[in-house]
Amino acid sequence: MSGARSVVDLSAFASKLSNDAAADKVASRIVDMHVHFDEKKPGFLDDLLKLSDRINLTACLLTPFANRRVVADAAKQHPKQIVPFGFVDLDAPDVARQVEELHSLGFRGLGELEFVKKPYIDPSYFPVYERANEYGWVVLFHTGIVLRQKFDEPEDVASGRMRPIYLEEIARRFPKITVVGAHCGNPEYEWAAEIARWNPNVFFDLSGSTLTKMHGRLAEFQRIFWWSALDWSSKTPDNDPSAFVKLVFGSDTDLSGVEGVVNQYRALFAACDVPEPTRKRIMGGTLAKLLGLPD
Ligand SMILES: [Zn+2]
Repeated sequence: MSGARSVVDLSAFASKLSNDAAADKVASRIVDMHVHFDEKKPGFLDDLLKLSDRINLTACLLTPFANRRVVADAAKQHPKQIVPFGFVDLDAPDVARQVEELHSLGFRGLGELEFVKKPYIDPSYFPVYERANEYGWVVLFHTGIVLRQKFDEPEDVASGRMRPIYLEEIARRFPKITVVGAHCGNPEYEWAAEIARWNPNVFFDLSGSTLTKMHGRLAEFQRIFWWSALDWSSKTPDNDPSAFVKLVFGSDTDLSGVEGVVNQYRALFAACDVPEPTRKRIMGGTLAKLLGLPD
């Protein structure tokens, strides 16, 4: 009798352990808003899946339109690891049709939108935003300073068309879009944070050079994300009172650099005393909920 009893106890204990392990896995999940699909690396998807297993990472995979099918298939096979996002050119004449096709292939959003010929709020881009709004998509916009690809030829690219302030108008006109600004508007962090404060559907990632530039003065972000525990009646995920909940994790590196960016985010959390539940939302909780990711 006592033998049978202990078997029962043991199996209850084992199932509790595996439930705890599953809960830990969900809690420690990283959702990376900013992984560019690298079509030039043949083993890219395999490498991504390996990294994903090792550090419990789900990648929002920013995919050039030309590579849409291979990524749509990979996302269907690995829905916990790959979330397909379409990287389209807002100035392409058939961009609205591209967006509809991405939707029919199971894509979950757009990004990273960048290198635009006009400011983000130009009405010629509205057909894309209207569709994203209808689909309830997450859309990642580059914000702030942008790299120069060619140094010796003319280029029609300018950071001034991708200022974080434009995201406010997009978020208000298209309230079913979750607007994510990459790079927190670098260097217009204050504008980025204030727009995030008043718009529940706006978030920013801190990928790019910011966390490197601010390495020795990360506590300054407390001055920018200043409204923690103050009631401004702004809506946040799970009513999280920390202003930092308006950030999401994004790496924007090659796969070998992702863990380095995780450590940079952790350094920011430590320097700014970001509460533990908020850290979890930033690192994955917020995006997992918004995207309805499987556990
Ligand atoms: Zn960018």
